[in-house]
Amino acid sequence: AKIGSYVSRMDSSSKKIVTGDAGYVLEDVPHFSDYIPDLPTYSNPLQDHPAYSVVKQYFVHDDDTVTQKAIAHKNGPRGLHFRRAGPRQKVYFEPDEVHACIVTCGGLCPGLNTVIREIVCGLYHMYGVKKVLGIDGGYKGFYSRNTVPLTPKVVNDIHKRGGTILGTTRGGHDTSKIVDSIQDRGINQVYIIGGDGTQKGASFIFEEIKRRGLKVAVAGIPKTIDNDIPVIDRSFGFDTAVEEAQRAINAAHVEAESGENGIGLVKVMGRYSGFIAMYATLASRDVDCCLIPESPFYLEGPCGLFEYIERRLKENGHMVIVIAEGAGQELLSESMQSADKKDASGNKLLRDVGLWLSQKIKEHFAKKAKMIINLKHIDPTYMIRAVPSNASDNVYCTLLAQSAVHGAMAGYTGFTSGLVNGRHSYIPFYRITEKQNNVVITDRMWARLLSSTNQPSFMSAKDVIEDKREDEAPTRHFDNQCNLDKSN
Ligand code: ATP
Ligand code: MG
Repeated sequence: AKIGSYVSRMDSSSKKIVTGDAGYVLEDVPHFSDYIPDLPTYSNPLQDHPAYSVVKQYFVHDDDTVTQKAIAHKNGPRGLHFRRAGPRQKVYFEPDEVHACIVTCGGLCPGLNTVIREIVCGLYHMYGVKKVLGIDGGYKGFYSRNTVPLTPKVVNDIHKRGGTILGTTRGGHDTSKIVDSIQDRGINQVYIIGGDGTQKGASFIFEEIKRRGLKVAVAGIPKTIDNDIPVIDRSFGFDTAVEEAQRAINAAHVEAESGENGIGLVKVMGRYSGFIAMYATLASRDVDCCLIPESPFYLEGPCGLFEYIERRLKENGHMVIVIAEGAGQELLSESMQSADKKDASGNKLLRDVGLWLSQKIKEHFAKKAKMIINLKHIDPTYMIRAVPSNASDNVYCTLLAQSAVHGAMAGYTGFTSGLVNGRHSYIPFYRITEKQNNVVITDRMWARLLSSTNQPSFMSAKDVIEDKREDEAPTRHFDNQCNLDKSN
């Protein structure tokens, strides 16, 4: 394979990438053979499947790897390699011996039911597995709740509904109780769908299973509506969330257009990453200002938000603002409710920036600017989470679920399935949980947004920003980017 192509082959004895390999690192995922010697293997039952006869190279070679975006570097291209996902020639389970379970944890996200459905159908139809159990109500369901037997019939229509048929909770992660329950029930494949917290929990479950020497595969499917998981191209449900956010933005625009100095303010999800706000803004074309956690803003003074609002209202008679829930948290007053409170999983509870900003804007225009405004605040966050996934997310969820099933059957464990650079891959847990995916405000996408909304960048002349993308890029100094006098 050439440098920059997606798939390379690895030399299994040395675990080095042998093609296009300058400076490449394999991010390997654990396998049963790492800690259980001499396990028997079986032929993959998929070799008798009709799909097998139509695809030239149906089985993925164990040593195929996928390159994360290769970065040009003076010592040659660099990038991470991940194991390519897909069916393997040999599997480590006989279909009759598999007893799988599925659990969903954390907040809701469009597509959860599709992933559940496709794990069940994948196990049944591709591998002839008949025993699949749903764990009711997140991690604590392993030891405190009932289980639900899952069959293709039970899950047949669930992808048309939002939410998760299994229920979900926060908190309640007790690793040894969970692994005891896995052992007691004779479960040997665990599929865990959830966000960063859930994947951290999954890695502890995997470590404990390995410590006990159990032949139990642990497979994660990363879930985050905010698209804040690193390495992967995008997370499932994100596309649906952006689409749904449009509906709220449309409503805000209609409201804003219809009143005197109308302002539509829409709060969308995004605790630490403003991807939904950014993409919804770019998609909508009705948004005059998009505020995200990665880009600090201020209210007063030249180039501040108030001045921009005043100018847009005078120019255009109305405006739409989109704000991600984590934006401007540092500006919110200490006195507001829920300061420094945490949820059951230990996540910091954020203060409601939508309410706060509405109040601030109203106060400013009543007292200081003495202008009549009509502000309508729309908070569609929970509506967005609860809708069923759209067509593209449904396809994506299906492939993620199938990859997870293939990986577990092939004896891989302690991995997350995800799309890397357009190819389905197995990613070790630590890569998913070690950091967060954020909007890089010195990247082109944010610049495109700024040029589409014409909002100020809220960066002052003294702001100095390191461009993190290129090791040797010079530190970039920004001139005053207050672009208020740009015409629209
Ligand atoms: P999201 O934040 O997208 O809603 P999440 O998976 O991050 O999803 P959390 O509520 O943080 O949601 O965590 C879900 C589950 O994972 C909970 O049951 C929680 O106890 C467990 N968990 C979270 N963080 C950890 C951790 N560091 N170690 C072990 N378990 C964890
Ligand atoms: Mg989380």
